[in-house]
Amino acid sequence: MSKVLVFGHKNPDTDTICSAIVMADMQNKMGVEAEATRLGEINKETKYALDYFKAELPRMIDKVEEGQEVILVDHNEFQQSVDGIENAKITTVVDHHRIANFTTAEPLFYHAEPLGCTATILYRVSKMNNMPIEPQMAGLMLSAIISDTLLFKSPTCTEVDKKVAEDLAKIAGVDLDKYGLDLLKAGTDLDDLTEEELLKLDAKTIEKNGVKVVIDQVNTINIEDILKKQDKIEEAMNKTIEKEELDLFVFVVTDILNSNSEILVLGNRKDIVEKSYKLENNRAFLEGVVSRKKQILPMIDKNID
Ligand code: MN
Ligand code: MN
Repeated sequence: MSKVLVFGHKNPDTDTICSAIVMADMQNKMGVEAEATRLGEINKETKYALDYFKAELPRMIDKVEEGQEVILVDHNEFQQSVDGIENAKITTVVDHHRIANFTTAEPLFYHAEPLGCTATILYRVSKMNNMPIEPQMAGLMLSAIISDTLLFKSPTCTEVDKKVAEDLAKIAGVDLDKYGLDLLKAGTDLDDLTEEELLKLDAKTIEKNGVKVVIDQVNTINIEDILKKQDKIEEAMNKTIEKEELDLFVFVVTDILNSNSEILVLGNRKDIVEKSYKLENNRAFLEGVVSRKKQILPMIDKNID
Protein backbone atom coordinates (compact mmCIF):
# COMPACT_ATOMS: atom_id res chain seq x y z
CA MET A 1 0.00 0.00 0.00
CA SER A 2 1.32 3.43 -0.86
CA LYS A 3 1.81 6.11 1.75
CA VAL A 4 -1.17 7.93 3.17
CA LEU A 5 -1.19 11.46 1.75
CA VAL A 6 -1.90 14.28 4.19
CA PHE A 7 -2.96 17.68 2.89
CA GLY A 8 -4.96 20.79 3.63
CA HIS A 9 -6.99 22.97 1.25
CA LYS A 10 -6.17 24.54 -2.09
CA ASN A 11 -4.56 28.00 -1.95
CA PRO A 12 -2.75 26.79 1.16
CA ASP A 13 -2.29 28.99 4.22
CA THR A 14 0.06 28.50 7.14
CA ASP A 15 -2.37 26.31 9.12
CA THR A 16 -2.98 24.04 6.13
CA ILE A 17 0.74 23.50 5.46
CA CYS A 18 1.93 23.26 9.08
CA SER A 19 -0.95 21.02 10.16
CA ALA A 20 -0.24 18.68 7.24
CA ILE A 21 3.42 18.42 8.30
CA VAL A 22 2.54 17.88 11.97
CA MET A 23 -0.19 15.34 11.18
CA ALA A 24 2.11 13.34 8.88
CA ASP A 25 4.78 13.36 11.59
CA MET A 26 2.28 12.13 14.19
CA GLN A 27 1.11 9.37 11.86
CA ASN A 28 4.69 8.25 11.22
CA LYS A 29 5.35 8.13 14.94
CA MET A 30 2.25 5.96 15.35
CA GLY A 31 3.56 3.57 12.71
CA VAL A 32 1.45 4.74 9.77
CA GLU A 33 3.47 5.70 6.71
CA ALA A 34 2.29 9.16 5.79
CA GLU A 35 3.54 12.05 3.67
CA ALA A 36 2.66 15.72 4.03
CA THR A 37 1.71 17.22 0.67
CA ARG A 38 0.22 20.50 -0.57
CA LEU A 39 -2.24 21.63 -3.23
CA GLY A 40 -0.61 24.90 -4.28
CA GLU A 41 2.18 27.42 -3.87
CA ILE A 42 2.89 28.61 -0.35
CA ASN A 43 2.69 32.27 0.67
CA LYS A 44 5.49 34.32 2.23
CA GLU A 45 4.15 33.96 5.75
CA THR A 46 4.23 30.17 5.47
CA LYS A 47 7.70 30.30 3.93
CA TYR A 48 8.87 32.38 6.89
CA ALA A 49 7.58 29.75 9.33
CA LEU A 50 9.08 26.80 7.43
CA ASP A 51 12.46 28.55 7.14
CA TYR A 52 12.45 29.64 10.78
CA PHE A 53 11.80 26.13 12.07
CA LYS A 54 13.84 24.45 9.32
CA ALA A 55 10.97 22.36 8.05
CA GLU A 56 10.88 20.78 4.62
CA LEU A 57 8.42 22.11 2.06
CA PRO A 58 5.78 19.41 1.41
CA ARG A 59 5.59 17.95 -2.10
CA MET A 60 2.98 19.48 -4.40
CA ILE A 61 0.24 17.24 -5.79
CA ASP A 62 -2.64 18.18 -8.10
CA LYS A 63 -4.75 15.02 -8.03
CA VAL A 64 -5.12 11.67 -6.29
CA GLU A 65 -5.76 8.24 -7.78
CA GLU A 66 -8.89 6.23 -7.09
CA GLY A 67 -8.65 4.44 -3.74
CA GLN A 68 -5.65 6.51 -2.52
CA GLU A 69 -5.70 6.78 1.26
CA VAL A 70 -5.78 10.40 2.35
CA ILE A 71 -5.99 12.45 5.53
CA LEU A 72 -7.58 15.90 5.28
CA VAL A 73 -6.53 18.70 7.58
CA ASP A 74 -7.93 22.23 7.80
CA HIS A 75 -10.79 21.59 5.36
CA ASN A 76 -13.49 19.12 4.42
CA GLU A 77 -15.49 20.65 1.56
CA PHE A 78 -14.65 18.81 -1.66
CA GLN A 79 -14.44 21.94 -3.81
CA GLN A 80 -11.55 23.11 -1.59
CA SER A 81 -9.79 19.74 -1.79
CA VAL A 82 -7.64 17.85 -4.25
CA ASP A 83 -8.92 16.78 -7.67
CA GLY A 84 -10.11 13.18 -7.46
CA ILE A 85 -11.11 13.44 -3.80
CA GLU A 86 -14.53 11.89 -4.58
CA ASN A 87 -12.87 8.55 -5.33
CA ALA A 88 -10.13 8.65 -2.69
CA LYS A 89 -10.35 6.83 0.64
CA ILE A 90 -10.53 9.45 3.38
CA THR A 91 -9.30 7.79 6.57
CA THR A 92 -9.18 10.85 8.83
CA VAL A 93 -10.23 14.48 8.95
CA VAL A 94 -8.90 17.03 11.45
CA ASP A 95 -10.63 20.35 10.93
CA HIS A 96 -12.17 23.45 12.47
CA HIS A 97 -14.53 24.52 9.67
CA ARG A 98 -18.21 23.98 9.03
CA ILE A 99 -18.95 20.61 7.44
CA ALA A 100 -20.42 20.88 3.94
CA ASN A 101 -20.20 19.04 0.60
CA PHE A 102 -18.64 16.10 2.36
CA THR A 103 -19.54 12.41 2.16
CA THR A 104 -17.56 9.19 2.40
CA ALA A 105 -18.32 5.61 1.44
CA GLU A 106 -16.69 4.19 4.57
CA PRO A 107 -16.37 5.01 8.28
CA LEU A 108 -13.54 7.35 9.25
CA PHE A 109 -11.90 9.27 12.08
CA TYR A 110 -13.40 12.75 12.10
CA HIS A 111 -11.91 15.15 14.59
CA ALA A 112 -13.64 18.53 14.56
CA GLU A 113 -13.65 21.23 17.20
CA PRO A 114 -14.86 24.83 16.89
CA LEU A 115 -11.43 26.23 17.75
CA GLY A 116 -9.34 28.92 16.08
CA CYS A 117 -6.94 26.61 14.30
CA THR A 118 -6.47 23.03 13.14
CA ALA A 119 -3.07 22.96 14.85
CA THR A 120 -4.77 23.58 18.21
CA ILE A 121 -6.77 20.41 17.67
CA LEU A 122 -3.59 18.52 16.71
CA TYR A 123 -1.98 19.69 19.95
CA ARG A 124 -4.94 18.26 21.87
CA VAL A 125 -4.75 15.00 19.92
CA SER A 126 -1.02 14.73 20.80
CA LYS A 127 -1.84 15.24 24.48
CA MET A 128 -4.65 12.69 24.38
CA ASN A 129 -2.25 10.15 22.92
CA ASN A 130 0.53 11.08 25.38
CA MET A 131 2.82 11.95 22.49
CA PRO A 132 5.73 14.31 23.21
CA ILE A 133 5.83 17.51 21.10
CA GLU A 134 9.26 18.36 19.68
CA PRO A 135 10.40 21.99 19.36
CA GLN A 136 10.19 22.00 15.54
CA MET A 137 6.63 20.64 15.49
CA ALA A 138 5.71 23.04 18.31
CA GLY A 139 7.03 25.94 16.23
CA LEU A 140 4.98 24.91 13.22
CA MET A 141 1.80 24.50 15.28
CA LEU A 142 2.44 27.85 16.94
CA SER A 143 2.86 29.51 13.53
CA ALA A 144 -0.45 28.05 12.38
CA ILE A 145 -2.27 29.39 15.44
CA ILE A 146 -0.74 32.87 15.10
CA SER A 147 -1.71 32.93 11.43
CA ASP A 148 -5.29 31.70 11.79
CA THR A 149 -6.08 33.88 14.82
CA LEU A 150 -4.13 36.94 13.60
CA LEU A 151 -2.16 36.79 16.84
CA PHE A 152 -5.34 36.20 18.90
CA LYS A 153 -7.22 39.19 17.46
CA SER A 154 -9.68 37.22 15.34
CA PRO A 155 -13.13 36.42 16.79
CA THR A 156 -12.40 32.81 15.83
CA CYS A 157 -9.74 32.70 18.54
CA THR A 158 -10.68 30.90 21.76
CA GLU A 159 -9.09 30.72 25.19
CA VAL A 160 -7.93 27.23 24.27
CA ASP A 161 -5.98 28.56 21.26
CA LYS A 162 -4.25 31.15 23.45
CA LYS A 163 -3.27 28.67 26.14
CA VAL A 164 -2.03 26.15 23.62
CA ALA A 165 -0.01 28.84 21.80
CA GLU A 166 1.65 29.90 25.05
CA ASP A 167 2.68 26.34 25.77
CA LEU A 168 3.91 25.81 22.21
CA ALA A 169 5.98 29.02 22.31
CA LYS A 170 7.76 27.68 25.39
CA ILE A 171 8.47 24.33 23.74
CA ALA A 172 9.61 26.04 20.52
CA GLY A 173 11.75 28.50 22.48
CA VAL A 174 10.43 31.71 20.89
CA ASP A 175 9.01 34.95 22.27
CA LEU A 176 5.35 34.67 21.33
CA ASP A 177 4.62 38.34 20.61
CA LYS A 178 7.83 39.08 18.76
CA TYR A 179 7.76 35.93 16.64
CA GLY A 180 4.03 36.44 16.07
CA LEU A 181 4.36 39.94 14.64
CA ASP A 182 7.39 38.99 12.56
CA LEU A 183 5.46 36.07 11.08
CA LEU A 184 2.37 38.13 10.25
CA LYS A 185 4.43 40.93 8.77
CA ALA A 186 6.30 38.48 6.54
CA GLY A 187 2.93 37.64 4.98
CA THR A 188 2.04 41.25 4.19
CA ASP A 189 4.89 41.74 1.74
CA LEU A 190 2.80 41.57 -1.44
CA ASP A 191 4.56 44.12 -3.63
CA ASP A 192 6.05 41.73 -6.14
CA LEU A 193 2.78 39.88 -6.81
CA THR A 194 0.72 40.43 -9.95
CA GLU A 195 -3.00 41.14 -9.47
CA GLU A 196 -3.76 37.57 -10.60
CA GLU A 197 -1.40 36.15 -7.97
CA LEU A 198 -2.86 38.44 -5.32
CA LEU A 199 -6.35 37.11 -6.02
CA LYS A 200 -5.23 33.50 -5.73
CA LEU A 201 -3.28 33.95 -2.51
CA ASP A 202 -6.07 32.92 -0.16
CA ALA A 203 -9.24 32.39 -2.16
CA LYS A 204 -12.12 30.19 -1.02
CA THR A 205 -14.99 29.11 -3.23
CA ILE A 206 -18.45 28.46 -1.85
CA GLU A 207 -21.62 27.44 -3.60
CA LYS A 208 -25.15 27.75 -2.30
CA ASN A 209 -28.45 27.43 -4.18
CA GLY A 210 -26.55 27.61 -7.47
CA VAL A 211 -24.81 30.85 -6.49
CA LYS A 212 -21.05 30.57 -6.91
CA VAL A 213 -18.99 32.88 -4.72
CA VAL A 214 -15.27 33.42 -4.26
CA ILE A 215 -14.03 35.17 -1.13
CA ASP A 216 -10.39 36.12 -1.26
CA GLN A 217 -8.57 37.57 1.73
CA VAL A 218 -5.19 39.29 2.02
CA ASN A 219 -3.53 40.70 5.13
CA THR A 220 -1.81 44.05 5.18
CA ILE A 221 -0.55 46.71 7.52
CA ASN A 222 -2.00 49.42 5.23
CA ILE A 223 -5.26 48.89 3.31
CA GLU A 224 -4.65 51.73 0.83
CA ASP A 225 -1.32 50.18 -0.10
CA ILE A 226 -3.25 47.33 -1.69
CA LEU A 227 -6.30 49.18 -2.96
CA LYS A 228 -4.38 51.96 -4.70
CA LYS A 229 -4.30 49.42 -7.55
CA GLN A 230 -8.12 49.01 -7.47
CA ASP A 231 -8.51 49.40 -11.25
CA LYS A 232 -6.06 46.62 -12.02
CA ILE A 233 -7.45 44.39 -9.28
CA GLU A 234 -10.98 44.86 -10.65
CA GLU A 235 -9.77 43.95 -14.13
CA ALA A 236 -8.27 40.72 -12.79
CA MET A 237 -11.39 40.00 -10.71
CA ASN A 238 -13.61 40.39 -13.77
CA LYS A 239 -11.42 37.96 -15.71
CA THR A 240 -11.75 35.40 -12.91
CA ILE A 241 -15.52 35.96 -12.74
CA GLU A 242 -15.79 35.20 -16.45
CA LYS A 243 -13.43 32.23 -16.44
CA GLU A 244 -14.89 30.53 -13.36
CA GLU A 245 -18.48 31.64 -14.02
CA LEU A 246 -18.76 33.32 -10.63
CA ASP A 247 -21.83 35.19 -9.47
CA LEU A 248 -19.98 37.09 -6.80
CA PHE A 249 -16.34 37.90 -6.04
CA VAL A 250 -15.48 39.44 -2.68
CA PHE A 251 -11.91 40.63 -2.22
CA VAL A 252 -11.17 41.25 1.46
CA VAL A 253 -8.22 43.37 2.54
CA THR A 254 -7.60 42.98 6.26
CA ASP A 255 -5.59 45.43 8.34
CA ILE A 256 -3.87 43.15 10.86
CA LEU A 257 -2.68 45.99 13.08
CA ASN A 258 -6.02 47.77 13.55
CA SER A 259 -8.30 44.73 13.05
CA ASN A 260 -10.55 46.14 10.29
CA SER A 261 -11.22 45.13 6.70
CA GLU A 262 -12.17 46.77 3.44
CA ILE A 263 -14.04 44.71 0.84
CA LEU A 264 -14.03 45.14 -2.93
CA VAL A 265 -17.06 43.45 -4.49
CA LEU A 266 -17.81 42.53 -8.12
CA GLY A 267 -20.19 40.21 -9.98
CA ASN A 268 -23.86 40.19 -10.97
CA ARG A 269 -24.97 39.27 -7.44
CA LYS A 270 -23.46 42.22 -5.56
CA ASP A 271 -26.94 42.57 -4.03
CA ILE A 272 -26.02 39.66 -1.71
CA VAL A 273 -23.40 41.83 0.01
CA GLU A 274 -25.52 44.98 -0.27
CA LYS A 275 -28.15 43.46 1.99
CA SER A 276 -25.61 44.04 4.78
CA TYR A 277 -23.23 46.75 3.56
CA LYS A 278 -23.67 49.81 1.36
CA LEU A 279 -21.08 49.67 -1.42
CA GLU A 280 -19.48 52.82 -2.72
CA ASN A 281 -17.27 52.50 -5.78
CA ASN A 282 -17.72 48.72 -5.24
CA ARG A 283 -16.14 49.07 -1.80
CA ALA A 284 -17.18 49.02 1.84
CA PHE A 285 -15.26 49.46 5.10
CA LEU A 286 -16.04 46.72 7.63
CA GLU A 287 -15.10 47.99 11.04
CA GLY A 288 -13.84 45.33 13.44
CA VAL A 289 -14.17 42.58 10.83
CA VAL A 290 -11.14 40.33 10.35
CA SER A 291 -12.54 36.82 10.03
CA ARG A 292 -13.78 35.37 6.76
CA LYS A 293 -14.99 32.25 8.51
CA LYS A 294 -16.86 33.83 11.39
CA GLN A 295 -17.90 37.20 10.01
CA ILE A 296 -17.88 37.47 6.21
CA LEU A 297 -18.88 33.96 5.18
CA PRO A 298 -21.91 33.78 7.53
CA MET A 299 -23.08 37.19 6.27
CA ILE A 300 -22.96 36.02 2.65
CA ASP A 301 -24.43 32.63 3.48
CA LYS A 302 -27.39 34.24 5.28
CA ASN A 303 -27.97 36.73 2.44
CA ILE A 304 -28.15 34.09 -0.31
CA ASP A 305 -31.75 32.93 -0.52
MN1 MN B 1 -6.83 27.31 6.32
MN1 MN C 1 -7.26 26.78 9.74
